[in-house]
Amino acid sequence: MIPYKHEPFTDFSKKENRQQYEEALKLVESYLGEEYPLIIGGERVTTEAKIVSFNPAKKEEVVGHVSKANKELAEKAMKVADETFNTWKKVKPEIRADILFKAAAIVRRRKHEFSALLTKEAGKPWNEADADTAEAIDFMEYYGRQMLRIKDGMPVESRPGEYNRYDYIPLGVGVVISPWNFAFAIMAGTAVAAMVTGNTVLLKPASTTPVIAYKFMEVLEQAGMPPGVINYIPGSGAEVGDYLVDHPRTRFISFTGSRDVGLRIFDRASKVGKGQLWMKRLIAEMGGKDTIVVDKDADLELAAQSIVKSAFGFSGQKCSACSRAVILEDVYDQVVKRVEELTKELSIGDPTDHSNFMGPVIDQNAFNKIMDYVEIGKNEGRLVFGGTGDESKGYFVNPTVFADLDPKSRIMQEEIFGPVVGISKAKDFDEAIEIANNTEYGLTGAVITNNRMNLERAREDFHVGNLYFNRGCTGAIVGYQPFGGFNLSGTDSKAGGPDYLQLHMQAKTTSEML
Ligand code: GLU
Repeated sequence: MIPYKHEPFTDFSKKENRQQYEEALKLVESYLGEEYPLIIGGERVTTEAKIVSFNPAKKEEVVGHVSKANKELAEKAMKVADETFNTWKKVKPEIRADILFKAAAIVRRRKHEFSALLTKEAGKPWNEADADTAEAIDFMEYYGRQMLRIKDGMPVESRPGEYNRYDYIPLGVGVVISPWNFAFAIMAGTAVAAMVTGNTVLLKPASTTPVIAYKFMEVLEQAGMPPGVINYIPGSGAEVGDYLVDHPRTRFISFTGSRDVGLRIFDRASKVGKGQLWMKRLIAEMGGKDTIVVDKDADLELAAQSIVKSAFGFSGQKCSACSRAVILEDVYDQVVKRVEELTKELSIGDPTDHSNFMGPVIDQNAFNKIMDYVEIGKNEGRLVFGGTGDESKGYFVNPTVFADLDPKSRIMQEEIFGPVVGISKAKDFDEAIEIANNTEYGLTGAVITNNRMNLERAREDFHVGNLYFNRGCTGAIVGYQPFGGFNLSGTDSKAGGPDYLQLHMQAKTTSEML
C-alpha cells in the first residue's frame, strides 16, 4: 500500500488545466436541471416534493431537482440501515477500506467534473472547488488506511496464562448531517468515516447542495458499496433531521453546521427514547470566530495577506475563516492599510470565470444575514472597505473590512459566515491573546510573529483546536492538520486525524484464560 500523501492542488496557471476545467464546466452544464431520486437500500425512490438546487451565482439556473424525504421515507431508510448493519458489520475492514480506495480513484479520474459541479452548486471559485474535491479524496485515502491500522485493535497487557485483547467494533446506524460549505469534502468525509468503521449510514446532505452528494453515492456504488450501507435521504432539518436525531435506533449522529443547530441536536440526542438501548453519541463540528493575531515584531506583509486570504476565500464561508484580526497598536495602522489595499484588489463575480477570486454567498438567507451584520458593523466600528452587496443576479456580497472595533462588539463576537472581517487593536501581546480567547468558540486561530517567546506563549494559551503560526487560519489538510475545535465550536472531533475513526466505534475487551 502506497503511504498516504495528500492530493495535490491543480495549478490553474497552466493552460491545459484551465482547458480541462472549462470542459468539466461544460460537462456539468449538460446535466443541469436533471432529477435525482432518493437512494434507500440501493433503490431509487422518487417523490413528488422536491428540493430545488440553484446556482447561487445565477439564481435562475437550476442545478437539479432532488427528491425530498419525509418521515415515512426516513423510517423506511432507518429500517433498511438497521437491517443492513447486521451484515455490513461482518464485512472485513479490508473490504470496506478497498471500497474507499476504489472510490477515491474514481473521483480522482473525474476530479474536475466534481469541482466544476461545486462551482455551479455551491458557487465555489476554481481553486476552492479543487481543494474541496482534493480533500474528499484525502478523506477516503486516509480513513481507508486508518481503518487498516486499527482493525486489530490496540495492544493491551496480558499476564501469564491469560490472553487479553482490545478491539474496536462498530456502533450501529449513524445519521450524518453534512454542510454545504464543503459540500463534497465534509459530506464524503463524515459519511465514509462512519461507513468504513462498519456502521450503516443515513446521509442527509445540506438542502442547498444535494446534487454533489448524489453523484458521490453513484461513485460509492460503482466502487462496490453494497445497497443499504449509505442511504441518501435529503430532506428538511425540521422534519427528517429531527425525526432521525430522535429515533431510538439512531446510535450516533455526525453533524457539521451551525452552533444553534448543533446545540439543538445535542439536546434532543440526550433524551433516551422508548426502547432505546444506548446513550447516543454526538460528533459535532460547529461554528467559529477565528482570530489572526499580529504581533509588533512580525512580517507585516504576510500578516495582511494571511488576513485577506483567510477572511475572503470562499467568501468567508468556512468555519475556519478569519473573521477577526487583533493587531498590536505599534503596527495597527500599517496592517489595516495594507489589508484595505489587498481587499480592494479582489475581484468578485461568477465563479465559473477563473479570474474571479470571490463568488457569491450560498443563498438569500445568507445574503440577508450578512447584510444585516454589515449594518451592525457600520454602527460599531469604522468601515474600511466594502459594505455593499448585489442580489440582482446572484447573492454577491463585497469583501468588507471593519476596524477600530471593541473586542466585545457583535462583529467581533458573533459568527457571520460571510466576507466580513472585524479588526481590534491590542496594546500588547498579552492583551491580544486575551481578546483572541474572548469568544464562546475555539476553532482556529493564527499568530503572525517573529518572536519565539510569543509564539510559545500562544501555543500554550491561545485556546483553539487548530492554531497556525505565520500563515492563515484556513485550509487544514487531512492527515497533516487534523481539524476540530474547542468550546462551542464542537466536540473537538478531529476530522482527518489519527483518532477520528474510533469516535464511530466502541472498544471491546476480551480476556481468555489459557
Ligand atoms: N477544514 C476547513 C479548513 O481548514 C474548514 C472546514 C469548515 O469550514 O467546516 O479551512
